Amino acid sequence: MNGGDFVIIKVEYSKEEQSEIIFHIELEKEDKINPSPKFSLNGKKCIFVIPDEVSFDEIHPDHLALVSILISHPFIGKRIVFPKAVSKEFSSKANSIITKYVVENIDEELQPWTSPVDSRPVLAFSGGADSTAALALMPENTAAVFLDRPLPKKPSWSIWKNFLRLMLRLKRGVSLYDKEAPHIACEKLTEFGYDVVKMETNLEYLRKPVGFPVDVANSAPAILLANHMKFDAVAFGTIMESAFGIGHEKFRNYPKSPHYKMWGTLFAAAGLPLLQVVSGVSEVGTSIINRDSSFGHIAHSCMRGKWMDPCRNCWKCFRKLLLDSVVNKEKMTDKELDELFKINEAKRFLSSFPIKHENVLTYSTSKYLELFELDIENNSMMSMLTKRVRGDVIEVDWMEKYFPMMFDLIPEKYREDIKTKLEKYLQPMSKEEQEFVLKWNLEPMLNDEIYQKLNTNFCKKLKNQ
Ligand SMILES: [Zn+2]
Repeated sequence: MNGGDFVIIKVEYSKEEQSEIIFHIELEKEDKINPSPKFSLNGKKCIFVIPDEVSFDEIHPDHLALVSILISHPFIGKRIVFPKAVSKEFSSKANSIITKYVVENIDEELQPWTSPVDSRPVLAFSGGADSTAALALMPENTAAVFLDRPLPKKPSWSIWKNFLRLMLRLKRGVSLYDKEAPHIACEKLTEFGYDVVKMETNLEYLRKPVGFPVDVANSAPAILLANHMKFDAVAFGTIMESAFGIGHEKFRNYPKSPHYKMWGTLFAAAGLPLLQVVSGVSEVGTSIINRDSSFGHIAHSCMRGKWMDPCRNCWKCFRKLLLDSVVNKEKMTDKELDELFKINEAKRFLSSFPIKHENVLTYSTSKYLELFELDIENNSMMSMLTKRVRGDVIEVDWMEKYFPMMFDLIPEKYREDIKTKLEKYLQPMSKEEQEFVLKWNLEPMLNDEIYQKLNTNFCKKLKNQ
């Protein structure tokens, strides 16, 4: 090495006031702190508060390595040095899939981690609609691990003092995040008999603006518990809109995508293959699952509202309230609809062309038209939205079904069981419907003058709401 940039991760274990695993990110050069115009490295110390009964030494070096990658991936230059030397198998699989940097420090003697015989899956549980629906499709012995983002509540913790001060400022100024609702969701799941663990970590504060360094980093707490709690697969609430690109401009072949190849390989190399249980299910499908499952009502999609009381003032609330109205066949009053189009955050998202997860709005407006006999020509915001997102012309019933290609990604051990559970709620798409998904492409619409004009008129009127 002649002074190339690389990341060294050091890890320490502390048992003073509480059991903590602390990852320190050390950069040789600082030139990777702004890996993208969207975010930068904001902290170099990542703390996980682990349950007292978990001993640090039982955590496999390959799992520490995987967590190290999850917290630092965007910031790594040419190589990463892990806290403990990893197995040869993990290193060679990682190096076979990671192109931008090299994984080093190998212990030739170390056996790769394998799950014990009586192992079970774990879900990176967020409390939201998609991960709650995912849990309904998984075995009853699935553990749900919730990544708990710390907010000021116990200022007596000396180790958190400065951190909490920062959080207070953030809370007042930027973040409106309220974690009461996901905490209640965790409690309710425990009452339903699930094994639920909440693990506090400042992981999301490693970057600025606050968020995960990589999307699968929300599973870091589950990985640290994998050996102790005997996990053999890690599930996420990744839905069809994200996995197969249906919420975006074009279909993406998820099994062949760089995202799945990279993270699928790394997680499998650590003995914890990905379990994408809702990757073939749209947001419409997860709403149906939650409507019909025994605990789906505990889900909350609004990050700001209280338990069972969404804020009705954010983009997620806009989408969800409209979708729930058609899924539950409960018509909204004109006043309620008017209120929706006054939500500032929703106005911002709705002004995009295409709109994020536009397909869900196509479904909602199409069903609204069908169920509640909306007058499409009355120039209300709802009818203008309907025309703009093609709710009046596109066939939408496929969103109430699942896309069978998702089963190509599910580990054999769980395939049959998940399929049986899924089919209690949703049917598979027909051949024609699958064809429609495979050909998903918003480009012709984006280039169509009629839709450009509908968009301009819609945005103009939306501004004045
Ligand atoms: Zn909300």
